[in-house]
Amino acid sequence: MRTRSMDEAEAKSLTPKLSPSEWRAEASITIKGYEDSSGSGSGSSSGPPDPFQAFTDAPFDERLLRGLTSAGYESPTAIQAQCWPIGLANKDMICIAKTGSGKTCGFFLPIFDNFIKGGGKVGQSMPVQRFGSYQGGRGGRGGRGGRGGGGYSANGAKGPKVLVLAPTRELACQIMEEGRKFGKFVGLRCVCCYGGAPKYQQIQALQSGYEVVIATPGRLNDLIEMKKADLSEVEWVVFDEADRMLDMGFEPQIRTVMANVTKEHQTMLFSATWPKEIRRLANDFLKDPIQINVGEVNSLNANKDIKQHILVMPESEKSDKLAQILQGIIAEGGKTTHGKAIIFVAKKISCDHLANELWNQGFAVDSLHGDRSQYERTQAINAFKRGQLRLLIATDVAARGLDVKDVEVVINYDMPGGVNGVEDYVHRIGRTGRAGAKGTAYTFFTRGDSKNANQLVEVLQKADQEVPAELAAMMRKPRGGGGRGGWGGRGGRGGGRGGGRGGGSYWGGGRGGRGGRDGGGRGGRW
Ligand code: ADP
Ligand code: MG
Repeated sequence: MRTRSMDEAEAKSLTPKLSPSEWRAEASITIKGYEDSSGSGSGSSSGPPDPFQAFTDAPFDERLLRGLTSAGYESPTAIQAQCWPIGLANKDMICIAKTGSGKTCGFFLPIFDNFIKGGGKVGQSMPVQRFGSYQGGRGGRGGRGGRGGGGYSANGAKGPKVLVLAPTRELACQIMEEGRKFGKFVGLRCVCCYGGAPKYQQIQALQSGYEVVIATPGRLNDLIEMKKADLSEVEWVVFDEADRMLDMGFEPQIRTVMANVTKEHQTMLFSATWPKEIRRLANDFLKDPIQINVGEVNSLNANKDIKQHILVMPESEKSDKLAQILQGIIAEGGKTTHGKAIIFVAKKISCDHLANELWNQGFAVDSLHGDRSQYERTQAINAFKRGQLRLLIATDVAARGLDVKDVEVVINYDMPGGVNGVEDYVHRIGRTGRAGAKGTAYTFFTRGDSKNANQLVEVLQKADQEVPAELAAMMRKPRGGGGRGGWGGRGGRGGGRGGGRGGGSYWGGGRGGRGGRDGGGRGGRW
């Protein structure tokens, strides 16, 4: 067994550490909210704390450090390195970092560490002591404070201390898994409360004093109304994927939930983007927050490891094109061993419809959307994670935050619409190219999507991707330049892309004239 001090010594001799400011520059991290935000680090009382460049820099409880090692993690991600010391210092914080950057551990680790050491904002919380049977055998905890019964024992019926709000059931469950990974080392129990599943077990867990609750705002509201969720003990609040929670219209529920958090608490907000609505939320619920941005924030950035193909086509050609791409994937990787692909559609109806169509064509697919039962969704996700299922069709609501490591291809059968369309696009394609792997994204872009052309082109250019001429042609010209000229004349587009593009094999020959239907009559968003 290696001891921690040996690790430390090794780390020192092997990796010459960067200075905090060098490290931040390299990790493209900017911090706001400290007087001296340039923060050259050590010793400066007003500057941000130095990042934990290695796990051994983090003063976490031994058992949490062991949890990190046993999770197979080697070093903190950029956001973790910088947000851990700030979280440990009980500061409210806003962390903006792209999907897949390890934000979940970013909040759980400092919260758990403070929790077990009794270091909440309230300052009077006691170390957890286990009396109940559920984690028997976990002796040897330094029962500092010698608190008697009460507190978190099974009968104490106290509410949770840690509250994580997340937009969807899948995401909430995923957060719970990550929470359990570490919670189990320090005796903290996580319960997940989401809609579409029976309330009974969730209520049971809440009432038996689970320390950590991860909830979707809607369900938590119901439970509060039923007087089954008592948030009066909450000392840590996390808004995870805050941008998406607001997109989904959860703001009123979030506000009700927060009205029930009555103790002084530390609040952390995590998001991949930083739009106006989130700023307002942050303003209302965070006190003097420190903001950590990883990468450029006011513009959308796609991961450069993802090869993005934008295929401009009429609605009527989508299903053929999809079949063609899927055949290509299967031909390359073998029928049961090809790369995993997620196909995103705009509506739940087209999700089922497409799944049936592909199934009939001999593709092994399943679908994930808000109308399927929780059981079916769980089945599909698990099969996809395990790899028995390799083609998944999903709506955004079901797929947000889905963490499957080896997705090779993302296909946007429908380009995400609405004002946040391109933001959603970046999220969706972010399902691939995770943790340094390479990924590929195909997006079917119709005339009806042209309002997103400008922003999409910007994303492509910043990620050094090719911008197809048809897409460029759809860009809205700057004011005064004849509006979105040229529309009328596009009717007879043939397979225009035939030549030129490398790897153009997915583009069969020239396509005939376009069908001209562009996705009229969309129903509800998901
Ligand atoms: P985000 O919330 O930023 O999208 P997640 O927290 O879901 O990212 O993490 C993405 C994946 O990376 C998860 O599978 C998680 O277990 C893994 N992960 C988190 N931290 C580390 C780390 N320090 N080293 C390696 N993998 C990590
Ligand atoms: Mg996340």
